[in-house]
Amino acid sequence: MNTRRVGQEYLGFKVAELHNWKTKPLPNPFSQETNHHFMSTTRTNVNSLGEFGLIDRLTEDFATQQKTTLLGVGDDAAIIATGGPEQLLVSTDMLVEGIHFDLAYTPLKHLGYKSVVVNISDICAMNGRPQQVTVSIAISNRFSVEALEEFYAGIRLACQHYGVDLIGGDTTSSNKGLYISVTAIGRAPEDRIARRSGAKAGDIMCITGNLGAAYLGLQILEREKRIYEENPGVQPDMGERGKYLLERQLKPEARTDMVDAFAKANLVPTAMIDVSDGLASEVFHLCKSSGLGAIVEESGVPIHEDAQLQALEFNIDPITCALSGGEDYELLFTVDPKDLDKVRFMPDIYICGEMTEASEGVKLHSKGGKIHPLKAQGWNHF
Ligand SMILES: [Mg+2]
Repeated sequence: MNTRRVGQEYLGFKVAELHNWKTKPLPNPFSQETNHHFMSTTRTNVNSLGEFGLIDRLTEDFATQQKTTLLGVGDDAAIIATGGPEQLLVSTDMLVEGIHFDLAYTPLKHLGYKSVVVNISDICAMNGRPQQVTVSIAISNRFSVEALEEFYAGIRLACQHYGVDLIGGDTTSSNKGLYISVTAIGRAPEDRIARRSGAKAGDIMCITGNLGAAYLGLQILEREKRIYEENPGVQPDMGERGKYLLERQLKPEARTDMVDAFAKANLVPTAMIDVSDGLASEVFHLCKSSGLGAIVEESGVPIHEDAQLQALEFNIDPITCALSGGEDYELLFTVDPKDLDKVRFMPDIYICGEMTEASEGVKLHSKGGKIHPLKAQGWNHF
């Protein structure tokens, strides 16, 4: 038998430590002694860094070791060399009940569909085509087999619609709530990949579809939930504008059609990102990665008529919904000015600003003609 000697390294631990664990009772993981090294140093609240600051902090010491890793953390998807003319794109996302979705008003089939779509959207954001997904879930015992079949019916529908294959995943239990982790894999020829970092000052900023509708759909669902909780006898009233807005929230689509349209127009965006957190946040990501500033034209930001009217009913400025709402899964991209004529005549694409030098900052040119600084988290409204 292979004996391990005290002082020898084994799996990164000194053997004495392992030996101590065997002879002494296991330490209480929550005792002050066990966590001494955490307790004695400064305690930084996770919230203070924000999601992206936290990712930067946790991954800053990971040096790339493989030549095949062409791009790691920090874009919509990682880029992996295949040795062939096409590169592999990999993106992963996690959805947590109570944080990303509320089962009080989210049908499980829609949730399954959306879980796949939000990941496929990240492959589109690299100008790639999605091909495979893995789906992992953690479930509490309150879910029946039938409920999970409903969830997987939504996943199947998305797989059929986007022509992707479900190739694996893990299923485990959770104490409370539903957790969904999806990984999407796609491909793109090297010279067609759009990273966040490729924009240049003077590039034209464009957006697909329209923004803000998904956020307003969520506000309607939240309103109806509150009314129902106060008076369960009342039937939900989604209003006449509800249909489009609810569909944008509950059944979003990824813009694979745009990836096809770019190919057909022989256009490669200089930089691209999908709109999951609101336009302002995505503009900041493009600016940070490309080392630039930007000016967003309020008059160029497309907002659906139903979203305009619903925003006014809720007493919110429609542009605030577009800038800070999120979950639209449209594509924000930049093009070289020489490609202006190509985007000008492509359907469902709107010119909404221009990239500037970093020293110019990130700004919004309002319809009223004023220039406001944009804030990444929410918008500093006047
Ligand atoms: Mg993204």
